[in-house]
Amino acid sequence: MNLYRQDHQPGPESMIERAHPKKRFILASDFDQTLSFNDSGYVLAELLGISVAEFERKANGMAKLNLVQQGGELAYLLLHDPEFRSKARPEHLYEAGKRVRLKPNIDLLYRFLSEEVAGHHFDFYVISAGPVEVIRSALEGIIPADHIYGTEFEYNAQGEIERILQVTAGYGKVAAVDQLLEKLKIGPDRLVYVGDGSSDIHVMLHVNRRDGFTIAVSENKYLAPIAKRSVIGDSALAILIPILEEVVGWNSSQIRELFETKGLLIQQWDKVQTDMLTIVPNSAAMEVESVITIAD
Ligand SMILES: [Mg+2]
Repeated sequence: MNLYRQDHQPGPESMIERAHPKKRFILASDFDQTLSFNDSGYVLAELLGISVAEFERKANGMAKLNLVQQGGELAYLLLHDPEFRSKARPEHLYEAGKRVRLKPNIDLLYRFLSEEVAGHHFDFYVISAGPVEVIRSALEGIIPADHIYGTEFEYNAQGEIERILQVTAGYGKVAAVDQLLEKLKIGPDRLVYVGDGSSDIHVMLHVNRRDGFTIAVSENKYLAPIAKRSVIGDSALAILIPILEEVVGWNSSQIRELFETKGLLIQQWDKVQTDMLTIVPNSAAMEVESVITIAD
């Protein structure tokens, strides 16, 4: 006998779930060199008339100090470096976004993940250490602005950067994904994080520890051993391969078929496992050997 038959009416949430019985996931992606080909810092520096060499000297100098979170060097320079601060205005950040060279098919990736994977729905978010204005401008018309988190500044009446409100670099990305999970009421095991660089180390360790899934899109020597999968490809759709295989559970022929129904062809798909080694003579052991020889 069902005691609850009379008074236990399904709430609005469970009714929504019944109407859309899809497993919900979050795909959180880095931006620079994950969805684009180059760091937006270079594009912005060029726009401001600051040479590549000068930008690299300043950014690398900052990175060596470890004063700011990895990936937060540009944010620091924009606020504290006299040359950057005197030149950068919000319109430059917007224009820099328009000049960033995006990887192809980000729009398709967004659509695939939200609509095309049977039984699954992925909410696509971008979490970048770069200025949020740059990233929102670069992805305008492709990913909604409220799905993009980046470093935020406050400006004074003259349009100069007055202070930093938040930096989504390094550990700042951990805070950002946790806020996202909390806001969307999704468990940490339903989070997929994609990144390419050292600004993604903290967040990948954090996502792995909480049973999420992590993908590296570069051969970064710190990141590749941490990420659960690595995938290298010029199209943003390359990210789909490990997601469909490991999270959704498809095999390679199902994946190829999906691409073909969308008019795309996976031309080359090489699975490689790379062990990176540096082997040097063991000078300590040789020294011991020569001592023994002398003693003989
Ligand atoms: Mg990056």
